[in-house]
Amino acid sequence: MKVAVFSTRKYDRAALSAAVESDVELRFQEARLVPETARLAEGCDAACVFVNDQADARVMGVFAELGVRGVVTRSAGFNHIDLASAERHGIPVLRVPAYSPHGVAEHALALMLTLNRRTHRAYNRVREGNFALDGLMGFEMHGKTAGVIGTGLIGASMCRILLGLGCEVLAFDVNQRADLQDAGVKYRAMDDLLPACDILTLHCPLLDSTRNLIDGQTLEKLRDHAMLINTSRGGLVDTGAVYAALRSGRLGSLGIDVYEEEDKLFFEDRSEHGVTDELIARLVALPNVLITGHQAFFTREAVDKIAATTAANLELVRSGVPEEHERRVRPR
Ligand code: NAD
Repeated sequence: MKVAVFSTRKYDRAALSAAVESDVELRFQEARLVPETARLAEGCDAACVFVNDQADARVMGVFAELGVRGVVTRSAGFNHIDLASAERHGIPVLRVPAYSPHGVAEHALALMLTLNRRTHRAYNRVREGNFALDGLMGFEMHGKTAGVIGTGLIGASMCRILLGLGCEVLAFDVNQRADLQDAGVKYRAMDDLLPACDILTLHCPLLDSTRNLIDGQTLEKLRDHAMLINTSRGGLVDTGAVYAALRSGRLGSLGIDVYEEEDKLFFEDRSEHGVTDELIARLVALPNVLITGHQAFFTREAVDKIAATTAANLELVRSGVPEEHERRVRPR
């Protein structure tokens, strides 16, 4: 079996090579998958993609023509894949539904605590011999109200972490979980949750219904000086509106691991040429903003689990993916 692996980085190469069956030939491509690079899958049975690959209708057309029999994504999210088009061409799409929900929730916590206690600023100051505390004052998480949007695998882990810190945890999800309610989480409608939260953290998928979930209007409803954390998908947030709310002081701070336009930026070293995306450059310049480049998933445990599940997904493509398989994703 031959597999075109798009957007390959050193860690993918090592983990995937160790995980696949010995007769699977991995053809590693550093190139991102876009219509112009889709033909790199020529002669392959499957294409293996990552979050900023663009598996759109044109790409699916090329894959169908080349006889690619399956697309496996090394991610939980699948908003980068045109599922309807894949379905039309009879190309099954498989994902890694749960590789390390705790790792992503822990990264969201890292963003919260860093922004709150300014450890990023303290680190730089102390290295320069500056031990002054001005500008480093934070708040206690204990007793604060946190809002969690989306209480699936990652959101549930986030809820339990926040409960452990002594936060009051409010949540919004289209499905409510009794186990979280038993643990003390209170589900609320968005309009009731937003004004009550000191911290808002997003853990729902990017769907048509959740695009720009946080826009100018929702930001207006949020409590004054709240902290917004997004480790889910950039498109959940209208970043321009968030920048305006930060500048006006309505929004207290922002921690993001994902960005609407990240496909043109993330996973590359751009230090030689500087960042050309003006909005992200302006955000980076604000002291109350912390940005990481889609690294929430990036733990040793997660990379190994992603590789193992991807290898199993490739075997499913080889043997024929059952219609009802739990890792098969379909248009909603
Ligand atoms: P999941 O499917 O277990 O949970 C998603 C939850 O969102 C579900 O409970 C679902 O009911 C809920 N939901 C769906 N529509 C909603 C809506 N309109 N409003 C509120 N809630 C809604 O997914 P997960 O494993 O917890 O992952 C969540 C998201 O995190 C993924 O979709 C992915 O985009 C993102 N993610 C990011 C990273 C990273 O490295 N930054 C890594 C993994 C996943």
